[in-house]
Amino acid sequence: MNAEILAVGTELLMGQIANTNAQYISARLSEVGVNVFYHSVVGDNSRRLKECLNIALERSDVIIMTGGLGPTRDDLTKETVSEIFNRKLELHKESLQKIEGFFERLNRPMTENNIKQAYFPQDAIIIENAKGTAPGCIIEDKNKVVVMLPGPPSEMKPMFEDTLMPYFKEKSKYRIVSKYLRIFGVGESALEEKIMDLIEGQTNPTIAPYAKEGEVTLRITAKCEKYESPDEMMQPVIAEIKKRIGHAVYSVEDKNLEEVVGELLISRNITISLAESCTGGLLSNKLTGIPGISKVFNRAVISYSNESKIENLGVKPETINKYGAVSKETAEEMALGIRNASKTDIGLSITGIAGPGGGSEEKPVGLVYLAISHSEGTECKEIKVWGDRNRVRNVTCLYALDMIRLHILKGSY
Ligand code: ATP
Ligand code: MG
Repeated sequence: MNAEILAVGTELLMGQIANTNAQYISARLSEVGVNVFYHSVVGDNSRRLKECLNIALERSDVIIMTGGLGPTRDDLTKETVSEIFNRKLELHKESLQKIEGFFERLNRPMTENNIKQAYFPQDAIIIENAKGTAPGCIIEDKNKVVVMLPGPPSEMKPMFEDTLMPYFKEKSKYRIVSKYLRIFGVGESALEEKIMDLIEGQTNPTIAPYAKEGEVTLRITAKCEKYESPDEMMQPVIAEIKKRIGHAVYSVEDKNLEEVVGELLISRNITISLAESCTGGLLSNKLTGIPGISKVFNRAVISYSNESKIENLGVKPETINKYGAVSKETAEEMALGIRNASKTDIGLSITGIAGPGGGSEEKPVGLVYLAISHSEGTECKEIKVWGDRNRVRNVTCLYALDMIRLHILKGSY
């Protein structure tokens, strides 16, 4: 079953709004095994809408239209479809009563043109709209299905969920389910090399890598008949990938790194404090965004200046003088200092050069030292991150989170 999404609205063509309806509907249809082959957009113009519909009817089994169901004269979706299928518009009494009720509840007079919203092409299946006045409808004609939904996403989405998901589930032979493996610490090309044979050899499930800022996601997608279990189909592939790249897979549930680390800290009751220089509180912000983190997150010091590193974290002035504020030695003293001050299980520090200025040949922009202090000692990691200031800061946080994660996984907590 091949589908096309036809969005109606001049606003879309003029760039005033983005076609988020098409994005939403595509994502949902793929989950029930309906292939979406085309997205099209047309303005509020009857002739051009007809043209688009005729093209869509030639190449697609299912056409999902959104927009143009409203009460005004430029709303002409139903009118145009009824002409094409040669089905008169008929009054649907129940819908009219509902629209009247809607206005009564709002204590607003109903205008004449709202009655238009209760007219549908003959023999249409009506889709109720609990969030607005314009109901949608489905027309089944020969082997074609045309669905008409209102434009506002807040109305369209519940209608799609409640009526169309079950409708297409029933009609479709397949379902398509994806899982997302989130990976940190292996670059996209290195990863591809490690699993190239899997990517090339697989037809179902399929494996597709996506690079995000500093990390990689693998999408595993299984297409199965209704009676089959997608989990069973995906498990062997996921196990094989994990075998090859090990701990670099940090989530199989599409969680991000801060969620994974936050949950690890909370579930194992491991307390933490941070000393942030070049990330200026970004890591604290990420971690404190995790619900329940207050149980384990003790404090953070944004220690930007040398004085602060000395006064708040107990870094020795000689250390800074001798090695510099961006150095392994300073990072280690910062981590130890924040851990001593807060008496947490883990103290983590970050010091680096985010750029664009401040770099030198010896210490270029993007050079960052991360140190983690715990009951068995202090370890430091040097990284070099490419990119602008924002990227350096963001990616540094990912490295810091991953450092915490790997420490917890190998530690004795
Ligand atoms: P109404 O009864 O509100 O007039 P309608 O079904 O006639 O609804 P439109 O007039 O085409 O729909 O669009 C109404 C509003 O819905 C738009 O102003 C816009 O905010 C939103 N909208 C329409 N189409 C889309 C789309 N494809 N993606 C996202 N939002 C949309
Ligand atoms: Mg409208």
